[in-house]
Amino acid sequence: MFDTTRRFFDLPEDIVYLDGNSLGPLPHSAKARMKAAMGDEWGLQLIRAWNMSEWVSLPDRLGDRIAPLIGAPPGSVVVGDTLSIKVFQALAAALAMKPDRRKILSDTGNFPSDLYIAQGLARLIGKGHQLVLEKPETIEDAIDEDTAAVLLTHVDYATGRMHDIEKITRIAQERGAVTVWDLAHSAGALPVDLTACNADFAAGCTYKYLNGGPGAPAFIYVAPQWQEIAEPALSGWFGHMAPFEFDQKYRAAPGIQRMRIGTPAILQMAVLDAALDVWDGLSMETVRDRSIELSEAFVSGVEAACPELKLASPRNPEMRGSQVSFRFEQGYPFMQALIAKGVIGDFRAPDLMRFGFAPLYVSMSDVETAVDTIAAVYRDEEWKEVQYQNRSAVT
Ligand SMILES: *Cc1c(COP(=O)(O)O)cnc(C)c1O
Repeated sequence: MFDTTRRFFDLPEDIVYLDGNSLGPLPHSAKARMKAAMGDEWGLQLIRAWNMSEWVSLPDRLGDRIAPLIGAPPGSVVVGDTLSIKVFQALAAALAMKPDRRKILSDTGNFPSDLYIAQGLARLIGKGHQLVLEKPETIEDAIDEDTAAVLLTHVDYATGRMHDIEKITRIAQERGAVTVWDLAHSAGALPVDLTACNADFAAGCTYKYLNGGPGAPAFIYVAPQWQEIAEPALSGWFGHMAPFEFDQKYRAAPGIQRMRIGTPAILQMAVLDAALDVWDGLSMETVRDRSIELSEAFVSGVEAACPELKLASPRNPEMRGSQVSFRFEQGYPFMQALIAKGVIGDFRAPDLMRFGFAPLYVSMSDVETAVDTIAAVYRDEEWKEVQYQNRSAVT
């Protein structure tokens, strides 16, 4: 089965790609879809394409294709903008639902952009909201009667450590708080069931495990029971109930549509539409089982060959997402040496080397090649070479 999914992608022969957690590879069909969107739709239909090619509903249709991957019902997910913006929208709506509470709770492992967005939103609201950061392990204990929103990333971007969405959501709700889940490293990586977990809000990106391409739009989920209550803080015309009435007063669209803001990025959405085809008929459980097999083989291979590389991810695969990180003081030049030899992962400051295992296109023989390459770079101390020492803007 994974032989078929691998052929879906346009990967260079001589590369082992272990960075799909940052940017998924190019699906072959994306090129044809982009060509059609540009040539037949934009080129020939011009403005008519909004109706003729149904561009106008593309954000909703894509949301409905992502929904089953995260355990969400139809009509509860919409696509657009970037994840940082979707986090802003979800958090703003969550805070508005708890006007008497002032605490935004997150953890010290959260992705900085989520924290920056929370800080900026608190300043903008100007009512004394505080972002409080706790250790991931003890986050539940810090949910109290002043907590308005619990803002967490399900799978830690750096270490792969995974939160229990169901348990934290339940405790948060028992204590009167609203949950906002960031699924950046979950959607397309492992099974998520937002409905079963009773999650309130969630958001994620589509350029990582969903392979939508650089800058692909994000998605946002709002639980059905909050869709008519959630106040859109970014109230743009595409989230209006009747955008083409050009009304001067904003009236929120019903349902998830109110989380749309402005004109959708149609060309990028066309690529995402093509990329999502790979999930048709694929079970996320099968993907997850395979990703655990791959990452377990990788961890034991690397540990056997390189005793100085320290596993930074949970050892129990059930406790981590689809990526594995190793700590090494010289992690940056080490990763550059690996990339020069065709094994692509990435580096996260201060000392983490990160490797993602996306079974759609990563095979067991890729894992063996990666382990052998890491062992060689380590054994021959290739990371000491001068050309690997200069840090690029993107690591
Ligand atoms: C990748 C990632 C983001 C990125 O947000 P953008 O707005 O798409 O740049 C945000 N949060 C987390 C947890 C991420 O891993």
